[in-house]
Amino acid sequence: MPGGDMKTPLLVDTGSDSPEPPGHSPGDPVIGIIGSGDFSRSLALRLVASGLRVFVGSRNPKRIARGLFPDGIELKSQMEAVAGAERVIFTALYPEHYHTLVGLRDVLAGKVLVDVSNATKVNSGELSNAERLAELFPQSRVVKGFNVISAWALQAGAQDGNKQVLICSDCPDSKATVIQLTRRMGFSPLDLGGLSASRDIEEVPLHLFPSWGGPILTIFLLFLFFYGYSFLRHVLLPYLAHGENNFYQLPLEIVNQTLSAVALVALASVYLPGLFAALLQMSRGTKYKRFPGWLDCWMCRRKELGLLSFLCAALHAVYSMCLSLRRAAGYTLLNTAYRQVKAGVENSWVEQQVWRSDLYLSSGILGLGVLTVLALTSLPSVGNVLNWREFTFVQSGLGYIALTLSVVHALFFGWDFAFFPSAYPYYLPPVYLLALILPCVVLVGRVFLALPCLAFRLAKIRRGWESSRHHLAQTDEGESSGIVPPSDFNDDV
Ligand code: NAP
Repeated sequence: MPGGDMKTPLLVDTGSDSPEPPGHSPGDPVIGIIGSGDFSRSLALRLVASGLRVFVGSRNPKRIARGLFPDGIELKSQMEAVAGAERVIFTALYPEHYHTLVGLRDVLAGKVLVDVSNATKVNSGELSNAERLAELFPQSRVVKGFNVISAWALQAGAQDGNKQVLICSDCPDSKATVIQLTRRMGFSPLDLGGLSASRDIEEVPLHLFPSWGGPILTIFLLFLFFYGYSFLRHVLLPYLAHGENNFYQLPLEIVNQTLSAVALVALASVYLPGLFAALLQMSRGTKYKRFPGWLDCWMCRRKELGLLSFLCAALHAVYSMCLSLRRAAGYTLLNTAYRQVKAGVENSWVEQQVWRSDLYLSSGILGLGVLTVLALTSLPSVGNVLNWREFTFVQSGLGYIALTLSVVHALFFGWDFAFFPSAYPYYLPPVYLLALILPCVVLVGRVFLALPCLAFRLAKIRRGWESSRHHLAQTDEGESSGIVPPSDFNDDV
């Protein structure tokens, strides 16, 4: 339908002699769908709701319960549906059944066949379903599309569910027709080029949160490490050494302590790769050289790490609020009170401890608040309304404020206890001290990079300046330079 409007009869009626279904006129474009399953039903509903006539072609139309396809959708044999649809036909079948359509080759010739199928394995290295369909019907124009939209999202309409439809084809005219149709149905088409892109498009529904694997594994390993360490230090060793029973701490206290440590280290790991990038650029004297793969990969996962850090911090806040609700806390309070009464202590107020607890609570609450703003701005709907300057301020400026507040929170928690030998039973330092190492390194590194001599040199490099040393090295080695996308560093300077 190149250059045309779907509302004009570019997808013209073929003059089928069936009576017009209610709400349609003979001039409405007719779309054909082969197959009468779940996807076909939802697709037909959406097409009819978009003002199009739909012919659903089945191997046995009489067998289909009429109630499944409401008025406005015409159930026909496969041959009638294909012949009746002037231009666009969806193949809502599983690819293993495509060969059953070869008898329709002549009627399908010159028509646009939309392949909606999904792959069954990732990286199979074989031809895609759409490519095989194109081989099977060389006289038809195959377009890949709609496989990333579920039957549910089609029924619900474009308001709910994912709106983006990935489309590709070797025939630009046919692709334009399907793109126009997609818009008319209320979805957002995304043109991915020729039919070879269908290999990737078909695999999209098989990917389960592809960018989250590494960050989730990192958080899981951090959790295991800190939980194991706390278990050893607070539960196992006291039990083995003195028969002390602290196992009751496992479900809540130890989890809470672990979550706080994981949140802190994960937040530091969001800003650490930016420091590496800055140091690398300064030592190379250029920004026009690719980072090592591991650093590129780490930088691309900062958003996920930040959101997981936020999740751990939020859980830590909820766990902390519940600490005093536990039976164990009640008994401990009663026992302490009883001991003080026995010892004749009338006033147990310790001014220093009052300040300590208020300061660490306050810095923790503020840190969580700033982290919440960061998490909210990482949502596309919020981030999209910010300009680049605002986004950088929030993600970098507020990010470092959140990290600083979290470090201060941990320091107030620790107070001066770290200076007493009693803080190191079995020669093991407290968990919060271990968790503070990486965030402190990041903050010191950031201050170091803010020193005028270094900040000036880095700013120059990021504006495109290259040191003569780099020029020389390039001439000597004859190496080519790669441009690194600016979004990968800007959050750190
Ligand atoms: P389905 O409910 O099983 O429907 C498939 C249709 O294929 C059947 O209704 C049948 O139609 C026809 N068929 C079945 N066996 C056949 C055979 N031996 N020979 C020829 N035709 C046969 O499957 P579906 O969920 O609608 O999926 C259809 C396609 O859409 C698949 O390629 C799937 O990957 C894709 N898809 C589905 C969804 C979804 O949410 N369901 C989402 C994205 C993509 P007739 O009996 O009327 O001939």
